[in-house]
Amino acid sequence: MIRFEEVYKFYNDTAVVEDFSLEINEGEFFVLIGPSGSGKTTTLKMINQLIHLTEGTILIDDKRISDYDLQELRWNIGYVLQQIALFPNMTVEENITIVPEMKKWSKEDMHDRVTELLDTVGLDPDKYRNRQISELSGGEQQRIGVIRALAADPDIILMDEPFSALDPISRSRLQKDVVELQHKLKKTVVFVTHDMQEAINLGDRICVMNQGRIEQVGTAEEILKHPANDFVKEFLQTGLPHYQEEKTVQHLIDNDYITRTSDAPSTASIEADAPVNDLLLLMADHSTVKVTHADQEDCMVTRDHLVHYLASQVNTDKEASAS
Ligand code: ADP
Ligand code: MG
Repeated sequence: MIRFEEVYKFYNDTAVVEDFSLEINEGEFFVLIGPSGSGKTTTLKMINQLIHLTEGTILIDDKRISDYDLQELRWNIGYVLQQIALFPNMTVEENITIVPEMKKWSKEDMHDRVTELLDTVGLDPDKYRNRQISELSGGEQQRIGVIRALAADPDIILMDEPFSALDPISRSRLQKDVVELQHKLKKTVVFVTHDMQEAINLGDRICVMNQGRIEQVGTAEEILKHPANDFVKEFLQTGLPHYQEEKTVQHLIDNDYITRTSDAPSTASIEADAPVNDLLLLMADHSTVKVTHADQEDCMVTRDHLVHYLASQVNTDKEASAS
């Protein structure tokens, strides 16, 4: 439903988004992640034309964004920012109904909408609707920011690091709220973060960006199991304290846990690119297993090899938790 076709953004002669092509599906929770300066905000703002792309095309429902009436486009795209852009001296209700007001909803519809939205994020409507924004905590304000973006029932919601200024408790509370809301309402959400754990918690798919380019797009599982390159691997390692690449049987061979012998008897075999866990399962029933490899000589693993390898992992885990 949102399609980027070879999109570039230049400032002077510098590309800050480069050759960006991908499709975000209807109802998808799509996360853009990358280090600071990698072009996430620029990419997000090009969708609602707060920033104009330099080259390429962005389409929403197969129509170029430049062919939409700008006001219609913005009204149909909710936007939530890190720095809470609420009006501090207006009430909760007044803040939430800004776009419905512009769309000339009736007083009654707006009142009902505010009740419904406050309920969905666990704020008592009677207690909160007439409060000033300045009387709310940071977490409460950010919840209002989220439901304000939903107020006029847009199809798309853009969120730019909406929770990064919050304490960990408010943050995980709001992450849960947003996931629930999205499952219920089936909105298309494009969510920017630099926090890998948050990306994994929230995203149906994740796009890893670096220096304006896409490094990898996939589900959390795909990215964790098969990081596309060294950049993604390093990003995972720094962002997730307990991240470990899925080890393959080949990893055991490369690190000399398996000695190349070819004369032991074997009744079972496994391919070198299989996960170590598959080998473990196989070795529950077989004391030796043949490892096959397309380009290398076959070799044998014994239970001794595997135990040796597993023991080395116990030591690494101890070191990791001690540091
Ligand atoms: P992110 O959100 O991933 O931190 P941004 O999209 O905000 O990154 O910025 C990407 C790059 O574009 C950065 O190097 C930033 O300095 C640069 N940039 C952003 N806005 C402008 C601008 N108005 N003029 C020149 N460079 C800009
Ligand atoms: Mg940013």
